[in-house]
Amino acid sequence: MPLHRTEAIVARSMDFSESDKIVTFFTRGFGKLRGIAKGAKKSKKRFGNSLELFSHVNLFFFEKENLGLARINNCNMIEAYARIQKDIKKVACGSYFLELIDGLMGEREKNAAVFSLLADSLSLINCQDLGTGIARIFEIRVLSLLGYQPQLERCLVCGQMLSNKERFWFSPLRGGIVCNTCSTNLGKLSPTSTGTLRMLILARDMEFKKVHRLVFSKQALRESEDALTGFIRCQMGKEPNSMRFLKKIQNLDNMV
Ligand SMILES: [Zn+2]
Repeated sequence: MPLHRTEAIVARSMDFSESDKIVTFFTRGFGKLRGIAKGAKKSKKRFGNSLELFSHVNLFFFEKENLGLARINNCNMIEAYARIQKDIKKVACGSYFLELIDGLMGEREKNAAVFSLLADSLSLINCQDLGTGIARIFEIRVLSLLGYQPQLERCLVCGQMLSNKERFWFSPLRGGIVCNTCSTNLGKLSPTSTGTLRMLILARDMEFKKVHRLVFSKQALRESEDALTGFIRCQMGKEPNSMRFLKKIQNLDNMV
């Protein structure tokens, strides 16, 4: 059995027996990968704290022939994102990133761009407090990278381009915007101002290293949350648990 090495982020970690852990990683080279870390609860030398949630590591593992649980040999920490662990809002946000990837990607479906987005986004929330704007930025970028890109530039029905002269709505079911003229009899629609749509287009297209400069207005946050979380619910067939958790924390924050 050859020993493989890949960059990975710990998405879930649970005790399996007195000494072992079962860990789910999102990896750069192998997509989602589950493995058993023998002796992880005792061997500080091989694993240290590298199997904690969100840890960004170099993962060394042996592949089983039937692609079942991999055998994790050891992990070297690249970045622990320690400040995320100390802040419940950041934990909620990071957990949401992981649940979106888990829900939108299949086992062993690899996507290096999505891996980089996840690592960069965790790094960003570790360093800065961007509120829930970062959740919207992550959503629009991960959807686009995975081929679910919602149509934000033109009406899905008549093709009219986004402009300040017309009112637009977002259809979570159809995954894009419709102009006011075409908006009748289309089921549930979310009102979205042109400003919010332009903000989302920027959040999707600009270089990641500049996204921390984006400042969402209250209206843009509310409208983009309605549109994107509605669209994600339609794609995943359910509301992700961590989405609910994130909203709850945000609401508590707004009450203070
Ligand atoms: Zn139209």
